[in-house]
Amino acid sequence: MSQDLCEQCAQPTVAYDAIHYGSVEAGYRLLCTRCFNAEVAKRNGVTHFENVQLEPIRMTDCASEAHQFHFQMRLLGTMIVLDAFEIQDGFPAGYEFRIIGKPEDDVLTLLGRLVEKMRRVLAVKDLAIHGNQFQIRDQTVRALISSDPAGPATFL
Ligand SMILES: [Zn+2]
Repeated sequence: MSQDLCEQCAQPTVAYDAIHYGSVEAGYRLLCTRCFNAEVAKRNGVTHFENVQLEPIRMTDCASEAHQFHFQMRLLGTMIVLDAFEIQDGFPAGYEFRIIGKPEDDVLTLLGRLVEKMRRVLAVKDLAIHGNQFQIRDQTVRALISSDPAGPATFL
């Protein structure tokens, strides 16, 4: 897995945690998510934002298959986006989840809501395989399922 250095804190930063931040006029810098959030907070005058790094968690789906989820929380002006995703070969792959909040929201409360959403999705088998074709099983799917024949479905 290749790692570049964050141009702010000089820490090794994996590809899924690196953000090119800047503009065409001023140029772009490679920042880790925490430095990116600090820059956005400073630029937007956001002071009530908890810039934390969440540790990966392991969850089991309805087929008893284990999934390791990584988290990325980004401050995007007046909202925060908390993503949970699996990693394959250094890049997000497989299940992906997202929850949107406000900068002043409690991060652990948002995380709890996201994990609950993940638990609900992992508890249900949405796709059935008939021959070599995937089909939606007998319930409504309220998510985006992308096509990735090499991996499991993606839910946003
Ligand atoms: Zn950094």
